[in-house]
Amino acid sequence: MPTLRNGKSTATESSAANGHTKHASDKEQLVILGSGWAGYAVMQKVDRSRYHVTMISPVEYFVFTPLLSGAAVGTNDFNSVVEPEYHQAYARKVDFKRKTIECSPAIGSEIRKQELNRRIDDDSDDAIKPAVSYPGQKLYTIDYDKLIIAVGCGTATFGIEGAEAHSFMLKTADDAQKIRTRILECFEIASQPTLTAKERRDILHFAVVGGGPTGVEFAGELHDFLTGDLEKAYPSLRPLAQMYAESVAHKTDWRLTLPFYSTIYDVAPGVLQGFDKSLSEFAAEKFKRQGVAIKCESHITRVCEDHLEIEEEGDVPFGMLVWNTGLAANPFIDSIKDLKKDEKTHVLRITNRLNVMTEKDEVYGDVFCLGDCSALEKKAPPTGQTASQQAEWLAKNLNALVHGSAPPKPFKFRNHGNMTYLGDFTAIIDRSSDVEGPEGSLTGKTAWLLWRSAYLYKSLSFRNQVSLVYHWLCTWIAGRRVSRF
Ligand SMILES: Cc1cc2nc3c(=O)[nH]c(=O)nc-3n(C[C@H](O)[C@H](O)[C@H](O)COP(=O)(O)OP(=O)(O)OC[C@H]3O[C@@H](n4cnc5c(N)ncnc54)[C@H](O)[C@@H]3O)c2cc1C
Repeated sequence: MPTLRNGKSTATESSAANGHTKHASDKEQLVILGSGWAGYAVMQKVDRSRYHVTMISPVEYFVFTPLLSGAAVGTNDFNSVVEPEYHQAYARKVDFKRKTIECSPAIGSEIRKQELNRRIDDDSDDAIKPAVSYPGQKLYTIDYDKLIIAVGCGTATFGIEGAEAHSFMLKTADDAQKIRTRILECFEIASQPTLTAKERRDILHFAVVGGGPTGVEFAGELHDFLTGDLEKAYPSLRPLAQMYAESVAHKTDWRLTLPFYSTIYDVAPGVLQGFDKSLSEFAAEKFKRQGVAIKCESHITRVCEDHLEIEEEGDVPFGMLVWNTGLAANPFIDSIKDLKKDEKTHVLRITNRLNVMTEKDEVYGDVFCLGDCSALEKKAPPTGQTASQQAEWLAKNLNALVHGSAPPKPFKFRNHGNMTYLGDFTAIIDRSSDVEGPEGSLTGKTAWLLWRSAYLYKSLSFRNQVSLVYHWLCTWIAGRRVSRF
């Protein structure tokens, strides 16, 4: 198995005799695993004239997750949420004694899917045998002097049968694209003349499982797309829906006045449980008026191709299901056996200088972990806010090490509050307790404007900011694109 000393640029220097690559550079080798909020931000801020930085990630771009819900319904363009970067591979294993990482290339989405599964199931390989073959698809090893683990988390499905197979997750730009395609497909299917009114209603039911900020924000964006754009693009569906409404017993059900409907399901007693109670009630009331049903204390027992099985309701058909119920540890983190993990979430426990440690509390000073795949002793929420604060701290710390300046004080999370979009130009901002600066909360259009401005400001590159403003303006003036291309 070849060993690359300095990542991609030195691959061609690999010696056939021993499969090892050495680089003349005397810079420290800084290897970053993951190109998400945490990894990407460290890469941007670390002094690259003093570190040789190699980023390893299965996706060749940075996904700005707060804009994914918008991308899934076409409010903004996919290019707005991605930013170019490096070395397309999965980290598979790490040897902390030898300071090496084993990587497997992740080129193309099929390979990425296959690799992800293989990493969990197969521990015995020295060659990759993918369904689709590309040159250079061999495992290789990269040396590091300093390692940053920022591989994020997956989506938890709590072992519910069929959840992974039959629902859409919203984690990557690929996911957003698939969701958008499926929504449009549902409308095309519903427009076929051979469908019964009931079949039409079923295919136009959009289910969202998970009433946290991500699920709620997606439901808000979906509402805008359904009522603002698709209703106009498919006027024929409205009378059909009304016919259906008349044909069912519950004529007063508010959902039956709309040609399609969406529902948020959650096991909790309400949506947005992490927000102030007044704000979660505001959100629930707003959704009700918008025609988005909220079904709390719903226990999903099974997910089938076209329906949910719910303990309280029986079978509930859907055209599309988006699953958003919290975090599951990344398989790479699962594969690490010799480090201390959080008992509940199984992510890596870290010190307040973001270093990992063994079960015996022996700290690895050259290995850092941050973002969703890490847990501080004094817990910080697994959000982009935490990940970017940690990234900023770590870049400062790494720069101080090579510049010989004073290291920053230990990391401390500063809560700037939570916000989420509810659809219909309305957002909520929660700064009600435990926040840096003035406390308070905000709802409505002003909150929406602040929500948009914050994400525009945080969009990392000027190119993305211009692209976002352009797409938001287009959407506002002319509506979203309703074609699948
Ligand atoms: C739809 C959505 C909306 C959100 N909105 C907000 C919001 O408004 N505000 C907020 O604060 N937070 C938000 N979050 C949460 C936020 O996105 C996460 O907390 C944040 O992304 C965590 O950053 P991270 O770098 O730890 O992980 P991620 O951003 O998930 O990045 C992980 C990276 O690691 C890569 N990777 C995975 N496995 C491997 C491997 N084996 N080897 C190498 N690389 C690997 C992934 O491809 C990815 O590039 C949202 C999340 C989602 C899904």
